[in-house]
Order: sequence, then C-alpha cells, then structure tokens
Amino acid sequence: MDRTNQVWERAIPVSEEEIISLVKQFDTPLFVVSEEKLLQNYRAFQEFFPGIEIFYAVKANPHPFIIRTLKEIGSSFDVASFQEIELVSSQGVPPERMIFANTIKRKKGLRYARQIGVNLMTYDNEEELKKIAMVYPEAQLLVRIKTPSNGSRANLSYKFGAEPDMAPELLLQAKNMGLKPAGISFHVGSPCSNVNNYLYSLQKVREIVEKVSGEISISVIDIGGGFPLSLYEEEGEGSLEAFSKAINPHLQEFLKDGYRVIAEPGRVIVGSAAFLITKVIGKAVRSGITWYYLDDGIYGTFSAIPFDKAAFRFLPLRESKEELPAVLAGPTCDSLDVVAENVLLPPLELEDLIVVPDIGAYSWASATNFNGFERAQVVMI
Ligand SMILES: *Cc1c(COP(=O)(O)O)cnc(C)c1O
Repeated sequence: MDRTNQVWERAIPVSEEEIISLVKQFDTPLFVVSEEKLLQNYRAFQEFFPGIEIFYAVKANPHPFIIRTLKEIGSSFDVASFQEIELVSSQGVPPERMIFANTIKRKKGLRYARQIGVNLMTYDNEEELKKIAMVYPEAQLLVRIKTPSNGSRANLSYKFGAEPDMAPELLLQAKNMGLKPAGISFHVGSPCSNVNNYLYSLQKVREIVEKVSGEISISVIDIGGGFPLSLYEEEGEGSLEAFSKAINPHLQEFLKDGYRVIAEPGRVIVGSAAFLITKVIGKAVRSGITWYYLDDGIYGTFSAIPFDKAAFRFLPLRESKEELPAVLAGPTCDSLDVVAENVLLPPLELEDLIVVPDIGAYSWASATNFNGFERAQVVMI
C-alpha cells in the first residue's frame, strides 16, 4: 500500500520499520496503544467541552495502561461493576473520581462502592431505589432518562432510561425514601451521529430541573458518552467539533447557573488511540476466493465486529499494484469466526503483517480466549 496514504499517516503513529521491530519484540497479535494519541484525544475533548468533567467510560477499554495514563492527566472514571471499581481503584484513583453509572447494580458492587466511598451513581427505576436504600442510602443519585437514539449504532435507551416524564416522580420518590437525589443523566447511544439527540435530551433536563425546583435541588448534569470517533469525521456535521459547537452553549449555561456538568466519553477517547498488528497464519483458496487466516479474530480483538458492529480498515505491509478480493478469517475452529469478506488486498503470503487502525474501543475489552487463543498482548508506546 501507499505509505503516503492519508489513512496510515493519520491513524498509525509509527513507521513500517517500527511495526516490524514491535513484532520482533512482542510477536502478534499485538494491540498497540499510543500514549500520545490517548492524551491528544483527552485534551481535544477538554478543549471542545470546556468546564465539563471527564469520566472516562472504562468499559470501552479497561486496560490498566489506559486507566493509569488517563488518571495522571486528571480524568475521572465511569465504572459499572465491582470489578471495574476495583480495577480503577487499584490504579490509585480516589473514589470521588468515579461514577457508578450502571442503572442496574449488583449488590456486591453497591456494597463495595459504599465501602470505599464511590458516592455518585445513576438509577432509572423504583426497584433500584429500594436496593440503594438498603445497601447505600448515603449515595448521590442521578436519574437516567431515555433519549432518542436516531442515528446511533448502539441504542443505549433500549435497555436503560426512564421516560423523561417520569423523571420528576422518580426524583421525588428518592427524596421521600430518605435518599439523596442530586442530578440527571442520559446517554444518546454509541456512537451518535445526530447531535439533535443531545439537544433534545438537554432540553428535557431543563424541563425536569424546573419541574422539581423547590422540592429537589439538582446539582449534577451528566451528558453520558456517544461522541463520534473523530478520525472518521474530521469535518462536517458528524465531527466532534460540530457537536461541541451545537451542544456547548447549553452546557455553558448550566455551568453558569452553578451546575456541575460531567460527561462519560469512552470511544472518542480510546477508539483512535490504538491499532492492532495481526499476522497471516494460513491461506487457502475456496470457491475461487482467497482466504487469509489471521492470528486474531471475532473471539479476540475483532469482537468489536459482532458486538459493536464496527467496520475496520486493513492495511497490509506488503505493497503491490494488484489488489484482489479476499476473505479475512480468525484462528478459531468456529465458522462464525470470519473477520471480513470482500476486502481488496494485494496477494499476501504467510507471515505477512496487517495493521488495523482505530481499534481501541470495544474490541480488546470484549475479547475472549475461546478455543485457547489468548487475547492480543497490549503494549503502550
Ligand atoms: C458505554 C457507556 C458510555 C461510553 O459511551 P461511548 O459511546 O463509548 O462514549 C458512557 N456512559 C455509559 C453509562 C455507558 O454505558
């Protein structure tokens, strides 16, 4: 492939020689996290949304390197389970810098949150309030509302979120149970390509705040995650910049009125900060099409394909003018383990390397060791 290719230049922060030397040192499959890109993404988000507190969504990629790097730059964290709280805590993050942002919490997680003092959490139903009243009545509660998910790949208001009309009642209910309602949260779906989802949700937040004023003092607004992977959308209405232009005036108004405004970005922070190096370990021609078998697949880093409905670009190191349609398959014995069909690739040989950019989010996080194939090793450069 053409090394002056924009995709490579933008997405892969190292040269071809460095890729080869990384593979010599660590072998494949290798999941490479660029510290520089991670920090860049974090700072870009900060610049686009000034004054908003960032709670990185750990589920996007929980690798300790990532948690540690983000901790050091000042990030807070969105955690969803006992394990995530323990992980983030083990990296030295104090409990005030975590939000337990799962509206359906296991008691084990709740107990642990109380034990170490993770005070901020979300809920969206009455049964959860009862659970919180029993286990952690001192917690600060944010009611999560349902939002439109038009144009989002994963709808996060399908499984979660109270109808906005019900939110005032749920907040009052918390108060009447002796709990501490403190705010409102939402998540527009991930990734979200339609900024109107945020605008609609912020409007609903305004309405709820006004409706309960006098009874409950709302102090925290949580706008969730869902921000687009900026690399795919450098410009235009789907870009992070366009999102910030549209949303910011509303957020700044909340800030001016003394609210604490927080966000839980995952994908936009880590998505473009990592690339995968995988190797061709087998090759066969089946029904006239060449199949290349890779050492990583659907049960590994490419779990992003079934779970996150992700689409990736495959950049082979081998250069050739000729490109032919091929199938890329993973290493397991499951026939489901097909990574991509109809990919245009130069003729490849065994041991050839393929680099896959923008694979940092919801990929390594959901990988398994099915069939004995271990998850890709992670290195930070
Ligand atoms: C998954 C999730 C996020 C992160 O979403 P992104 O689209 O990756 O930014 C944030 N908050 C909650 C509650 C989530 O479930």
